[in-house]
Amino acid sequence: MKDFLNSKTELYAVIGDPISHSLSPDIHNRIFRELGEDKAYLALRVPTAELGEAISVLKNNFKGFNVTIPHKEAIIQYLDEVDDSARIYGAVNTVKIEDGRLKGYNTDGYGFVKGMELAGVELEGKKALMLGSGGAARVIALELLNKGCRLTIANRSLEKASKLKADLIVNSKNKSIEVIHPLQLQENYYCIVNTTPVGMAPLDQELPIADTKLLKGARLVYDLIYNPYKTLLLQEADAAGCSIINGFSMLYYQAIRAQELWRRHPLADDLIDLVFQQMENSFNRITESKEYC
Ligand code: NAP
Repeated sequence: MKDFLNSKTELYAVIGDPISHSLSPDIHNRIFRELGEDKAYLALRVPTAELGEAISVLKNNFKGFNVTIPHKEAIIQYLDEVDDSARIYGAVNTVKIEDGRLKGYNTDGYGFVKGMELAGVELEGKKALMLGSGGAARVIALELLNKGCRLTIANRSLEKASKLKADLIVNSKNKSIEVIHPLQLQENYYCIVNTTPVGMAPLDQELPIADTKLLKGARLVYDLIYNPYKTLLLQEADAAGCSIINGFSMLYYQAIRAQELWRRHPLADDLIDLVFQQMENSFNRITESKEYC
């Protein structure tokens, strides 16, 4: 990112509603700044009723954009093409604009897996518990199944979890999936992933599991939440001796993958590590000062 924007500056954005707390501009603009590029990334609030109008402005002025809640599914109708990753998840989080055509991708799964790889955990044949059955869970479940897990989905609405299971059976070769109510969980799991908002304000004093005994023996506990940086679940898991990952690595690596799609080539590892470090440092300052909520 240069000091001043001008009419030639290449524009990127994230669209969603609400959007004011998005960390995506911080990540992408740091990358542009480190590379000395005349590019800028904005956070644009787009209410659902105005999605179509927003797309035509983006199409004529931007090179690419990310999509977040509540538009990840609705965006698909406006795209000229959808990549396999997005088709399987039924949701798009990254759009590339080229020659007036819009192509949609989903980089959330890549971000999730990258976080898992950084923890060095091998999941083939292991029991994994996923809490929640919403939009993020759809992506996470497929990635866990791709890694060869035996998957248990626990959700307060069993109907929603069963619907997710039915969709997963269609889309995944690994069909080892069971559905259970969270209050009935008893077994130990090798890996536990929280995809519910329990642990994030206003539920930041709550756990997404009924009993911390479930954490005993877990090798990895992964919470998709990154604010707070260490949820109550991760604090308990840490105390129980599990490896823990928060949602920041998923957020960060889905952004890296989006950059690589827009550029058509990988970013250098040292740049990826440098910006990750910068973000973590600013995150600590932000969360310590309690300005971020
Ligand atoms: P979503 O589609 O609204 O799904 C939320 C899920 O959590 C649903 O299954 C819901 O259960 C369950 N849930 C909600 N409130 C609950 C409560 N009080 N007690 C128990 N279960 C509850 O949301 P999402 O888009 O999947 O996002 C879920 C979480 O992942 C959010 O915290 C979000 O910030 C985080 N996320 C992080 C990243 C990242 O990059 N780190 C990316 C995406 C999402 P029902 O089905 O019964 O309603």
